[in-house]
Amino acid sequence: MPAQIPETNMSLRPIKRLIKAKPTLEGAGVHLRRAFGFGNTSDFDPFLLLDDFRNDIPNDYLAGFPWHPHRGIETITYVLAGTVQHGDSMGNQGSIAAGDIQWMTAGRGIIHQEMPKGDPLGRMHGFQLWANLPSSLKMTAPRYQEVKMAEIPEVTDDDGTMARIVCGKFWGKKGPVDGIAADPIYIDVTVPPGKRKKLPVETGRHAFAYVFAGSGKFCNASGPLAVPTEGIGWSDTAPPKEADNRSLVLFDAGDEVEVQAGEDGIRFLLVSGKPLQEPVAWYGPIVMNTQEQLQQAFLELQKGTFLKSQ
Ligand code: MN
Repeated sequence: MPAQIPETNMSLRPIKRLIKAKPTLEGAGVHLRRAFGFGNTSDFDPFLLLDDFRNDIPNDYLAGFPWHPHRGIETITYVLAGTVQHGDSMGNQGSIAAGDIQWMTAGRGIIHQEMPKGDPLGRMHGFQLWANLPSSLKMTAPRYQEVKMAEIPEVTDDDGTMARIVCGKFWGKKGPVDGIAADPIYIDVTVPPGKRKKLPVETGRHAFAYVFAGSGKFCNASGPLAVPTEGIGWSDTAPPKEADNRSLVLFDAGDEVEVQAGEDGIRFLLVSGKPLQEPVAWYGPIVMNTQEQLQQAFLELQKGTFLKSQ
């Protein structure tokens, strides 16, 4: 690695951390894997949490996420198989099907439920990402953006690398979701077996990849990764050497990332956003800037004044 990278060249983002998603029990008893969302998440700012809810055992997810509140955040649900039925305090109802995306701005508050239903094979596959709202928008009006699979642009490069653009601009195409405070770029990337690929990620953004099929090596390191790695738990004595299924790759500064796909190719989410750099006061589904605002939210829930019509 050169000590100084000439400004005229693109600079590769080194890997800052390689983490395995951890088994987590959420909602009314849903077994999922949490890639991040524990403790201090400032390295991921403006994002707070990423849950991988891919599961093939209906009993592990059917209890779902019954009525619960949110305030101060946006959630992005991307479904790959099965459906998630949802309903909310504003009277909205619908289902997010395979390939679809739901972007929910909780703003000043919603109460909703999210019920995974699975497909005929029992599969329920998808991801939920939480993006923080800046203080100026924490109490904005709640809204939903629903995007059907057919509306999500797909771009295929010369070497067969394919990108579905969930949100933001990439390779000259723009995803269908807009008006998101964190200004995220969220793409679903598939790199064919054995191919090496560089993908641009604007400087000044926090960026991560989450691998969900195949495997590969990120960055140009040929030897073992000299970065902190975290296994699944204390009993996991073999930290990941390369990024495979359920690996989260947190990138350091730079303006592009590089991946060398393994023999089965690799598929991953590549997500970046502009850090908000604001204080975070977070308890469960509510994320504010101060403890007072957080207490206020829970007090309002108790008193039944959480939902605001105006
Ligand atoms: Mn929710």
